[in-house]
Amino acid sequence: MDFIPFSKIIGQDKAIGFLKQAMALGKLPHAYLFTGIPGIGKTTTALALAQAINCAEAKEGEGCGECVSCRQWAGGNFPDLQVIEPDGQFIKIEQVRGIDREMGFKPLSGRCRVVIIRSAERMTMEAANAFLKTLEEPPPGNILILNASEPLDLLPTIVSRCQNVGFRPIPASLAAPWLEEKTQMGRDKASLLARIAEGSLGKALEMWEEGILEKRAEYITTLMSLKAISEIEAVEMALRLTGKEKGQDQEKDGDILPLLNVWKTWYRDLLVVKGEGPPESLINGDLYSELKKAAQGFRIDQLVSSLLLIDQGERDFRRSRNLDLMMENLLLGLRGFMGETGGGGDRENH
Ligand SMILES: [Zn+2]
Repeated sequence: MDFIPFSKIIGQDKAIGFLKQAMALGKLPHAYLFTGIPGIGKTTTALALAQAINCAEAKEGEGCGECVSCRQWAGGNFPDLQVIEPDGQFIKIEQVRGIDREMGFKPLSGRCRVVIIRSAERMTMEAANAFLKTLEEPPPGNILILNASEPLDLLPTIVSRCQNVGFRPIPASLAAPWLEEKTQMGRDKASLLARIAEGSLGKALEMWEEGILEKRAEYITTLMSLKAISEIEAVEMALRLTGKEKGQDQEKDGDILPLLNVWKTWYRDLLVVKGEGPPESLINGDLYSELKKAAQGFRIDQLVSSLLLIDQGERDFRRSRNLDLMMENLLLGLRGFMGETGGGGDRENH
């Protein structure tokens, strides 16, 4: 796992300031809950905190990089770090029992064991209930750091036993230069990608690797074609997009969130065009003439409702992971907001 110190983490000054203050006061809680969308530095920050806590000579909350513990970090062999991730779709009760067993031993380094639980909202109910006991009385010398997108996705009894630290999406002004440096893509592309990814560096990198910028036009054409097809065809389209169509055996879960992100940027841009906002605030500004044309087919309330539907679809997908149902509902919903602007001409024949 790459190690990045606090000073190199971008866009999370507030959260990091809060953590450093707790360290300086010697008031670290036994459990933190880091919340925010994926890919904005929650795990990276948790790792930096773990290093700083264990550093023998931390300076202003930063690990010194030279003591025994920091050298172990740099070499990737610090003994008192445990990172738990979903095993398949879920974090299972055996994994929680594993944490309990581990925490029963004193930290090998003699300082502090840090257990990071990524995607904590993906605990099974059984695991979450077992974990509540872990949270109740963790042995001294252990800090638990839970990461989750939204506190609402966790049991309230878990949330109330942790100190909550919110992480924010990274502003495009910080994310774009970072992406540019990391990938050597030009500034225009980096800026477009940062905004499509809604401030998630992790998502932006994934999208870059998957060639989302190249697929963007296709995603938008697919969306706009909904208007001209029947409900049954829309359902078929949903299955095709999720890879569940007959004859296809490959699931395409990984493509869906980028697709939804692109659609959201499209609707946001349509709202800007419809409201005669400044063209420079458009995300897909390079598709200005297409936007202008498409905007004529919508009323503002239809655009707003469509955006809300996509947001809901994303949440449903994260929570239930029932991709087919989510996509069917979403496409039928979006289709319902197309083609009836009251301007005539575009109405379907019933
Ligand atoms: Zn150190």
